[in-house]
Amino acid sequence: MSGASVKVAVRVRPFNSRETSKESKCIIQMQGSSTSIINPKNPKEAPKSFSFDYSYWSHTSPEDPCFASQNQVYNDIGKEMLLHAFEGYNVCIFAYGQTGAGKSYTMMGKQEESQAGIIPQLCEELFEKINDNCNEEMSYSVEVSYMEIYCERVRDLLNPKNKGNLRVREHPLLGPYVEDLSKLAVTSYTDIADLMDAGNKARTVAATNMNETSSRSHAVFTIVFTQKKHDSETNLSTEKVSKISLVDLAGSERADSTGAKGTRLKEGANINKSLTTLGKVISALAEVSKKKKKTDFIPYRDSVLTWLLRENLGGNSRTAMVAALSPADINYDETLSTLRYADRAK
Ligand code: ADP
Repeated sequence: MSGASVKVAVRVRPFNSRETSKESKCIIQMQGSSTSIINPKNPKEAPKSFSFDYSYWSHTSPEDPCFASQNQVYNDIGKEMLLHAFEGYNVCIFAYGQTGAGKSYTMMGKQEESQAGIIPQLCEELFEKINDNCNEEMSYSVEVSYMEIYCERVRDLLNPKNKGNLRVREHPLLGPYVEDLSKLAVTSYTDIADLMDAGNKARTVAATNMNETSSRSHAVFTIVFTQKKHDSETNLSTEKVSKISLVDLAGSERADSTGAKGTRLKEGANINKSLTTLGKVISALAEVSKKKKKTDFIPYRDSVLTWLLRENLGGNSRTAMVAALSPADINYDETLSTLRYADRAK
């Protein structure tokens, strides 16, 4: 595999109460890694089929043998990305899909241990591995940051006093970064869990104050992980630094479908700018990887999100995407557009 490969998974969630009350029908079918969607407006039309690295069925009850648990999703995707981080790669996992389709459930999950998402499971395993491997020769350090990108502006979720609009700059060697973004050193899983909780609360509070919902911003949780190896014979030390970015994207619903006007429309266009650019970047990288070309034009600079993720997408990095789907006929258009977005990433 070349450096720019993207693992793509789709995951369908159970019906929500609105869909149940409208007696919605399930229009998604999954078999092995293939996912198909039926057009409810024209059921005679052949279902449109797509094939992904993983297709996760969670539409029925957890007792169903095909039901994909949080643990399975982590084992397939999170574990592999964590291994790559230990090998020294930068990694990125992001969740895409319309609001309510299951992005936060997949990335963050719920408090109960069996429902913990990719981020808490990955952080827990990171520290387990550190504790297992730490010795006289090997030492590790971990720093985290948590930011929100809303309308192409960056807000620090670990320093809520910082009201937002931090500057995005470029370091000549290390690449794009956010000036003054808090980077906190952590030494245990509990440290990270506490910071994540505080960050999530700051996100909700800020959203409520501004009369918006957090579904309209991108949340980027970053772990900078340094492995130091000390050779006692030569007394030389070597260092490997990996950046793990875990991204819960804004809802992908189109601005026009929510009857947006004025600011809301502009905001929709801005959110979509990041999502559209991310789509372009990922599919350009997929092309580079297929053609095994080394260089091609990748439009990282066209949005704040892709610019900041530059070092985590393509080049010396590994990327995974989970596209979250509603099973219901009433969401056909959005679900089809999510499947197409995911399909372009392969
Ligand atoms: P999003 O982040 O895309 O807006 P959420 O993750 O908040 O959506 O999901 C919406 C609701 O659906 C939540 O109540 C969540 O717990 C539930 N949900 C989402 N995905 C699943 C799943 N795979 N299994 C069970 N419940 C889910």
